Amino acid sequence: MIVVENVSKAFGGLKAVHDCSLEVADGSITGLIGPNGAGKSTLFGIIAGFIRPDSGRILLDGRDITGVKPHRLFHLGLIRTFQIPHEFSRMTVRENLMLVPAAQKGESLVTSWLRWGAVWQQEVEIADKADEVLDFLQLAHLADELAGRLSGGQKKLLDIGRAMMTDAKVVLLDEPGAGVNRTLLAQIVETIRRLNRERGYTFCLIEHDMDMIAELCDPVICMAQGTVLAKGTMEEIRANEAVREAYLGH
Ligand code: ADP
Ligand code: MG
Repeated sequence: MIVVENVSKAFGGLKAVHDCSLEVADGSITGLIGPNGAGKSTLFGIIAGFIRPDSGRILLDGRDITGVKPHRLFHLGLIRTFQIPHEFSRMTVRENLMLVPAAQKGESLVTSWLRWGAVWQQEVEIADKADEVLDFLQLAHLADELAGRLSGGQKKLLDIGRAMMTDAKVVLLDEPGAGVNRTLLAQIVETIRRLNRERGYTFCLIEHDMDMIAELCDPVICMAQGTVLAKGTMEEIRANEAVREAYLGH
């Protein structure tokens, strides 16, 4: 579904991503691991259109999306979450979800006002969808809570919920387990698995929690120094000598 071809990106003299090639297969939950500074987040930024690569190409479903802006990728069904969630803290959880489709449609206030009847109907549908998403995420009891008051793990779930409000096909998750307590971690793992199995979402996730990677991901890709070091099952990656060295040498 996503193909990364010989992508490089330098910041000043530092090669953050260097001649990197990899694939995320349709329907997979692909894990992306590697020591700090390996270039994982930069690669996500490039795939999701936030950072333009110096060279190389990104394909989505065979279509060249190199340099395509995030909001357009959003329309094409590719979205990313951030290591640190970007919620609107003074809006409620439900309102945070309801914002997403409006942003996706690029609706302006004037056009909405001119078609207020249709928009009203649409708003009801969006609210229903938000409630359905909150049920799925087991966050229904927090629908009217201010998003800023959620715990770290609940914010990560809300981030996933925002992906569900779109017609996303591929979701890039940057450390969905970081700073999340055990109970909520299990809930996040279960949510990702169900979205993959029941709703056909493809995921690529960066994670340091190896238990989470082992539980969810196949294949696992290990990056180091801007490029792919190894790809395989978690078992194969664990046994890989170059991978061990990359982690030890860090
Ligand atoms: P990872 O997510 O694997 O920890 P990053 O992609 O965040 O790695 O970073 C890769 C390298 O690029 C690091 O050395 C980091 O300091 C550097 N880097 C990342 N973003 C920038 C930036 N905007 N400007 C300068 N250097 C950056
Ligand atoms: Mg990172």
